[in-house]
Amino acid sequence: MAESNYGSRDKRGHYRPHKRVGYPPIFIWPLQPRAALKWVFAVPGYLVPWNVFYICVGVLSWFLLSPPLEAYAKISFQTFFLVFLKNSALVALYFGAFHYRLYTLRSQDTDFKFNPRWPAAKSKQFLFNDQNLDNIFLTFFSGVTIWSGFELGLLWFPANGYVSVLSVKENWIYFIVMLLLIHLWRDLHFYLVHRLIHFEPLYSLAHRIHHKNINPGPWSGLAMHPIEHIFYFSCAVLYLFFPFHPAFIIVTLVHAGLSPAPGHVGFDRIKLGKGESFDPDSYAHYLHHKYFECNYADGILPLDRWFGTFHDGSDEAQTRLKDRLKEKNLKNRFTR
Ligand SMILES: [Zn+2]
Ligand SMILES: [Zn+2]
Repeated sequence: MAESNYGSRDKRGHYRPHKRVGYPPIFIWPLQPRAALKWVFAVPGYLVPWNVFYICVGVLSWFLLSPPLEAYAKISFQTFFLVFLKNSALVALYFGAFHYRLYTLRSQDTDFKFNPRWPAAKSKQFLFNDQNLDNIFLTFFSGVTIWSGFELGLLWFPANGYVSVLSVKENWIYFIVMLLLIHLWRDLHFYLVHRLIHFEPLYSLAHRIHHKNINPGPWSGLAMHPIEHIFYFSCAVLYLFFPFHPAFIIVTLVHAGLSPAPGHVGFDRIKLGKGESFDPDSYAHYLHHKYFECNYADGILPLDRWFGTFHDGSDEAQTRLKDRLKEKNLKNRFTR
């Protein structure tokens, strides 16, 4: 399977897919209910593979790997340690699998890699002068810590009886629908929070740390400043205000904690062997890391299209972005 069937490289060796970033036929006018329904059940589509995968991991994490709800009633170091260990194991396995195959084994070399260079191993930009070490450090010491903090803090309410837990048996349709909608809520929350942290002073204070990864790898996904992690994982708070089950919190946090790995993988396609490959859906967000001021959303809501910040990877989109930046710079000069 040749890379040239799917895209081309420019003079500097940067890979650009022939495909354009697009949106599913769901939030469009006039409505296309048949196409939308087809997309929900298509492979790949809304449910399979990513959404169902994160739901399954989250549900397993709650029912098999987490301490019992009573343990969350008191904020103890022991419970925190167990929760941190559980979430760290998920991250190490998932992020590690992408990294090990593509960056340690270099199983497909730079085939389909957007940026021809490997992550910086000697750069003063990064902690320890090493992009991977910087990314891994921020992922565990800030990312998984704050993720686990949200898990403990939010489950403290039902554990102490301030929020009642519904029975899955009696409300199984509601339970499943809520789990399936988490992806949609995460998309909206990510966009809102991401737009917010692109404004000063939050950008210089926090989000700039994530944007040091112009050439991202899987570990760049959760490599953020603690302030950004607090905004990022706050998506789970919403579920305290609905008829409640702890799995809603865990699945939302697992979705937020794991989905950045394929999203930052740095490759347009991942080879599986025997001429097969799959698209990890990382192109739109790669363009955000490359050009900063486009594709703030990452997923299925066409928010960038509605607000004029969409970049589909084409030359026309690039020209539009340049014009927009020129206008912005001019405005800044006059308002300063
Ligand atoms: Zn990113
Ligand atoms: Zn950003």
